Amino acid sequence: MTLPSKTLWLTFDDGPEDTYSPRVLDVLHHYRIFATFFCLGSQVEKFPTIVQRMHEEGHLVGNHSWDHPHLLDMPLDEVYQQVTKTSEAILRVIGYRPHLFRPPYGERSSPLVGHLANWEYHTVYWDIDSRDWQGISGPTISANVLGHLGAGGIILQHTGIHAKHTVDALPYMIEAAYALGYTFGQLPDLFAEPVEPPSGNVT
Ligand SMILES: [Zn+2]
Repeated sequence: MTLPSKTLWLTFDDGPEDTYSPRVLDVLHHYRIFATFFCLGSQVEKFPTIVQRMHEEGHLVGNHSWDHPHLLDMPLDEVYQQVTKTSEAILRVIGYRPHLFRPPYGERSSPLVGHLANWEYHTVYWDIDSRDWQGISGPTISANVLGHLGAGGIILQHTGIHAKHTVDALPYMIEAAYALGYTFGQLPDLFAEPVEPPSGNVT
């Protein structure tokens, strides 16, 4: 897949919660930027109104498992439960069943990605890790992103318990990226192709 070289896609993992997710949404609303939130099903159940707000303000809600386990250590039927239970929770709240999945910790294997594809999920990783999950300062988060802009467009950030400095960094990071000639896109545009295999050409 060829990506436009000056387009960035913001992604936020581990939400929703009611402290940092609303503040991230406020910043994104201010700049009219649409992001993807990879949500945990257990958090969706606790904070459905935040998920509704994400959806209503034009963001995409993706699946990040039910409670953030190490999927590669789990039997396949439990992985399936983690994924489908989360999608059903999201479906109940916003009437939309996600087709984007980001594995917790980014841990994946070819068989896992294959199973997810069979279950109609695109597995989404990232190109640039802000490393905000390490509890680092806002300026360091910004530097981690802005210093790696040539590496690709999908940026990993969080709205969970480590998100205080993520919120602090976000406006500066956005404005600095704009100053460098970058724009922000909507991730679903990348995955607009149908999930089903093409049909009609079989002879
Ligand atoms: Zn995560």
